[in-house]
Amino acid sequence: MSILVLNCGSSSVKYQLIEMSTEKYLAKGLVERLGEEDAKVKHKCRDGRRFEEVKDIKNHSQAIKEVVRILLSSEYGVIKDVSDIKAVGHRVVHGCEKFSESTLVTPEVMKVLHDCKKLAPLHNPHNIHGIEASEKLFKGVIQVAVFDTAFHQTIPEHAYLYALPMEYYKKYFIRRYGFHGTSHYYVAHRAAELLGKPIESLKIITAHLGNGCSIAAIDGGKSVDTSMGFTPLEGLVMGTRCGDIDPFIPIFLMENYDVDYRDMDDILNKESGLLGLSGISNDSREIEEKMISGSKEAKRAFDVTAYRLKKYIASYIGVLCGLDALVFTAGIGENSDLTRAAACENLECLGIKLDSEKNKETVRGKEGFINADDSKVKVIVIPTNEELVIARDTLRIYKSM
Ligand code: ADP
Repeated sequence: MSILVLNCGSSSVKYQLIEMSTEKYLAKGLVERLGEEDAKVKHKCRDGRRFEEVKDIKNHSQAIKEVVRILLSSEYGVIKDVSDIKAVGHRVVHGCEKFSESTLVTPEVMKVLHDCKKLAPLHNPHNIHGIEASEKLFKGVIQVAVFDTAFHQTIPEHAYLYALPMEYYKKYFIRRYGFHGTSHYYVAHRAAELLGKPIESLKIITAHLGNGCSIAAIDGGKSVDTSMGFTPLEGLVMGTRCGDIDPFIPIFLMENYDVDYRDMDDILNKESGLLGLSGISNDSREIEEKMISGSKEAKRAFDVTAYRLKKYIASYIGVLCGLDALVFTAGIGENSDLTRAAACENLECLGIKLDSEKNKETVRGKEGFINADDSKVKVIVIPTNEELVIARDTLRIYKSM
């Protein structure tokens, strides 16, 4: 049976149609630049057929209709009838404290999702549009919401509370939520499979390093701490996000310079990170290329990023009181041997030692161990597969109905 996985962002819809008997995608793609006249559709079938088109697509509803049209088309399609899609799984970024696992979408769940909008204004409204559009298009088909925050709901109070007056938590729900949960969950479980051990017996650190970056400490399969917090801004240095800074810096800038809170939002979320530090790019590939060809600015950005990552790895070994495996995933984690090497440099004192050849070879979607034979900690590169987790959860809920 086939499950459609939808990930609706502010101006894009990513999709995968997954055949659950093999857990392989039949087709996947992306509709981007929604709302523009030159929105772009990119579609790829498992058998290699590809399709690209530029057209006027106004919103999520039109985008999902377009996806269905292509999935059914004679040239680039993979199904004969819409009824071949038995269930739809949606990525939802924020599940507040209400959802610690994936859930069937019901009118009550939609109400809670609307209530959570304030906590994730950049993401949840679009996720909700996607669910509403999909409910209209796939009449009678179950819709499942899978939350980025759910996996981190096991983080204990001492790690999720900020040292602010308690009323801000109680009244406004200000706490650490953590994100990328589906990815951390997937790679931690895959690491346990590769190690041939039950996840309940393992201490694992997972580093999801993409455009957004976060790291999680996972004890016995449960997330016990993670670097992203109330929003996906906290923690590691990212493409354009600053990660951890002294919280007084925004107040200082707003008080003394011509910066208002909207400017501040842009500075912290869109102008900082690799881009802000280097003045070159938010793309780590470009930063690495420039660094190799001698750019001091690129080296500075790379060094700050790698140092922050290393600091988190070391601190999470303390949180976990030991470590069995360190996992790297997502665009940078899966491809950048330089980042992995810099983050692990001189961590032999904590049991982490890389094999530089294996590290260099493990790129472009390869899965594998990159630790030296005498490293106490296993270091593993695992391509993430958030869509598969969403599809599996959707199937589980479908079967339980
Ligand atoms: P998203 O968080 O949007 O899903 P990805 O997981 O695709 O993003 O990660 C995007 C990041 O991965 C970009 O910074 C990109 O430069 C980086 N990346 C991809 N390939 C490489 C590579 N070969 N070397 C270094 N960085 C890479």
